[in-house]
Amino acid sequence: MSTILFATSEALPLIKTGGLGDVSGSLPIALNSSKHNVCLILPAYSPALREAGDLKEIARFEVPSAPAHVRLLEGKLPGSSVTLWLIDCPPLFDRPGGPYADQDGADWYDNALRFGLFCKAVSMIAMDQLGLSWKPDVVHCNDWQCGLIPALLASQENRPATVFTIHNMAYQGLFSQKEFYDLQIPHELWSMDGVEFHGHFSFIKGGLATADMLSTVSPTYAKEIRTPQFGYGLEGLLEYRSDRLVGILNGVDYTLWDPENDPYIVKSYTSKTVRFKSLNKSALQEYMGLPVSEKTPLIGIIGRMVEQKGFDLFLDNIEWLISTEVQIVVLGSGEPHFEEKFKIAATQYPQNISVQIGYHETLAHHIESGSDMFLMPSRFEPSGLNQLYSLRYGTVPIVHHTGGLADSVIDASEENQKAKIATGFVFNEATPESLLATLKRAIALYKQPKLWKQIMKTGMKQDFSWKKSAKQYLALYQRAIEHAKNS
Ligand code: ADP
Repeated sequence: MSTILFATSEALPLIKTGGLGDVSGSLPIALNSSKHNVCLILPAYSPALREAGDLKEIARFEVPSAPAHVRLLEGKLPGSSVTLWLIDCPPLFDRPGGPYADQDGADWYDNALRFGLFCKAVSMIAMDQLGLSWKPDVVHCNDWQCGLIPALLASQENRPATVFTIHNMAYQGLFSQKEFYDLQIPHELWSMDGVEFHGHFSFIKGGLATADMLSTVSPTYAKEIRTPQFGYGLEGLLEYRSDRLVGILNGVDYTLWDPENDPYIVKSYTSKTVRFKSLNKSALQEYMGLPVSEKTPLIGIIGRMVEQKGFDLFLDNIEWLISTEVQIVVLGSGEPHFEEKFKIAATQYPQNISVQIGYHETLAHHIESGSDMFLMPSRFEPSGLNQLYSLRYGTVPIVHHTGGLADSVIDASEENQKAKIATGFVFNEATPESLLATLKRAIALYKQPKLWKQIMKTGMKQDFSWKKSAKQYLALYQRAIEHAKNS
């Protein structure tokens, strides 16, 4: 029996900005069992307070540097038996806007204080300092927002083991030295072996330097972040700690993402009734204002419109795509210049491209079920979830060979088609030319329905459920416990 405190800055269905929200909303459920007890802890943002249902105060305490007293609220992660704890400090978390940024998309000015306070409160709970008579065996910390937790715990006697998971190295939580001192945390942490990073205060480095075990969200990304191209200056530290670093591919919550039981889609289907997928396609075409046409290949795109996702590689190929009579449906939001380019393309080619700027969970399900192909030209992709969803929906993924995309999609080379293991299309260089060559291959194969169906069906049969990944996390916790014992 082990007890796990799972700390995160977002979790479905309370609050989500990306893949971390999906993972934190489903991995704790997959881990929680008669043998393992999981408590999920996150800040009490306004939407989380709204969505959490019944909550009761179980502790009220002071945290140095907090602008108000702090409360620990207890409930259940909706739809599960996982214990939910929310760290409530209204001046910091109960405000309109997102978890990391305000309504205009600018990072909250006090993020160091907000997540610093969260980390301090979690480490107090982990050391049983609130009188709860409860102590976890492992604290599982996710991304930079939780990076100080292992650092704060490292020097404590009788501490729980710590695991730090990187969901994206590009987001590091970098602040000033003044913000470090304002947080009133032990001054010894300001060192090369602690949170100091080229004169800055780095939350992510705190986790990377001090956690008992490190993980990231795919085996390929675990290798990539040890290189200058993906390590953002931390590759040396990651190489040094590589014996503590593992890659575990994210799982899919098939209760939410499976066309057999997806309540959002127009018509359910399985690999045996894949012909019904076309009803979802026509509904999507109609909804997005595109001509309803069964034969025209429809490419779906969903994601944050940021440099990482490589949408510019796709935009560079728009004219060719239009000339070959394809349809493209786009859902996303992010950097204004990307949003603008997509909107211009949709205005220029209204018969072929339809774009929705914004965040729409339901439309994301319609796109997964209604598209023929799903494009992820990401420059890097720690795990990626949409390619995993796409596989289950028979929506053939077209992906760049990087991170979790490389670990989950098998290219439709002739050899792989013959062996009946092909599940999608993979291109090797993050260039418009490499993408174009692969788009051409995909569209040519789409015109051969028998071969195409084989690829769809092989993809639909893949199992990326949390079961396998959860087992790997349990093994990781065990290793962390061993290291903590010997530290
Ligand atoms: P990342 O975490 O980098 O954003 P992932 O592929 O790991 O990328 O996870 C993204 C998740 O967010 C997926 O569940 C995806 O469907 C969802 N998502 C991203 N943008 C949108 C959007 N505009 N509307 C609905 N869902 C979105």
